[in-house]
Amino acid sequence: MTDGPTYGFDTLQIHAGARPDPATGARQTPIYQTTAYVFRDAEHAAALFNLQEVGYIYSRLTNPTVAVLQERMAVLEGGVGAVCCSSGHAAQIMALFPLMGPGRNVVVSTRLYGGTVTQFSQTIKRFGWNATFVDFDDLDAVKAAIDDDTRAVFCESIANPGGYITDLPAIAGIADAAGLPLIVDNTSATPYLCRPIEHGATLVVHSLTKYLTGNGTVTGGVVVDSGTFDWSASDKFPSLSAPEPAYHGLKFHETFGPLAFTFHGIAVGLRDLGMTLNPQAAHYTLMGIETLSLRMQRHVENAEKIATWLEGHDAVEAVTYAGLPSSPYNGRLATVCPKGAGALFTVALKGGYEACIRFVDALEIFSHVANLGDTRSLVIHSASTTHRQLTPEQQTAAGAAPNVVRISIGIEDADDLIADLDQALKKAGG
Ligand SMILES: *Cc1c(COP(=O)(O)O)cnc(C)c1O
Repeated sequence: MTDGPTYGFDTLQIHAGARPDPATGARQTPIYQTTAYVFRDAEHAAALFNLQEVGYIYSRLTNPTVAVLQERMAVLEGGVGAVCCSSGHAAQIMALFPLMGPGRNVVVSTRLYGGTVTQFSQTIKRFGWNATFVDFDDLDAVKAAIDDDTRAVFCESIANPGGYITDLPAIAGIADAAGLPLIVDNTSATPYLCRPIEHGATLVVHSLTKYLTGNGTVTGGVVVDSGTFDWSASDKFPSLSAPEPAYHGLKFHETFGPLAFTFHGIAVGLRDLGMTLNPQAAHYTLMGIETLSLRMQRHVENAEKIATWLEGHDAVEAVTYAGLPSSPYNGRLATVCPKGAGALFTVALKGGYEACIRFVDALEIFSHVANLGDTRSLVIHSASTTHRQLTPEQQTAAGAAPNVVRISIGIEDADDLIADLDQALKKAGG
């Protein structure tokens, strides 16, 4: 099948990037469980190593099963190329790697996945990189945080865990005016609910671990490149615009144009950082994506029903779900994610920290796990787990205060989920 803008999302999620196996006719994408690929001759090998010809060399860089997933994700997000990585966190490093350098910084939203807050506030410092955390609702503060050493702006579309929706067009406008790429983590929304590139994002990162695979079997990530950023407009991005010593002085942007970031991600990023997705994981993710729209519709339908029910419950202080009319972010849905606010939200219990612990322990259908975006419903008390490394101020800013439980609504029967929540809230008391 040729991929074209004429096909709808439901068709593309099944067919984009895939074709019957040329060797066998296999209809499902085979798992190419191989490390290396035989060169036609020495000349072919040299051309591949010089990046003069595109082909397969070694599976740390490229693999045919992974390539189908890369093409499918690029098509679903409306980008030109994609690089798969071994996890969502690896994808974030891969996105920043060609842009950053010692002394450089990234301006990031305070409302992020807890692991990302730790990665950005602590670990990237070891590379000499810095992150400046800002409230992305305060557009003047975002502008003021950008300085001469800023190399990117980073946020989540629907932010984990708090049901917050980023005003993507406004943030993209600020990044654009400053000549900087905007990186959007679209994990909680998926390209079915939100397409950040249409709002001006340069790069989209995902944890494939969540809704894209959809059933809690895979750890993976991807960076999708919009192909729209001019890496040569300033001297800020030498990895992409200046001669690359490891490739005989080749200039990625000049040579590969809109595919510069993607080629650099594979030829330098995967080659030297080695955060590669394995073909087995790519296969599971491809199968998951085939049903993405159907699952997301049910995730959203269930989440709307359950968030509404919880908001009316006596034991509940607040529900942060952007799909509720009471949410301050409800108004952003129509622009940013018109098909729904996802299925991830937090519930604050009147009974505080202790009631949260009892509630989580009493649930029967919901599993208490450090994951989200699974077919099954999941729950976690963020303050004592995923957001444990954060200060109380960071926890509250990230929507993970001590009396808050994060819920990821699955695709089970909504009435069964409500009954389970009801009995657990009774046991939680307070
Ligand atoms: C899970 C998650 C990540 C990290 O992904 P891993 O695959 O666990 O490394 C990053 N961002 C968001 C929003 C996530 O939910």
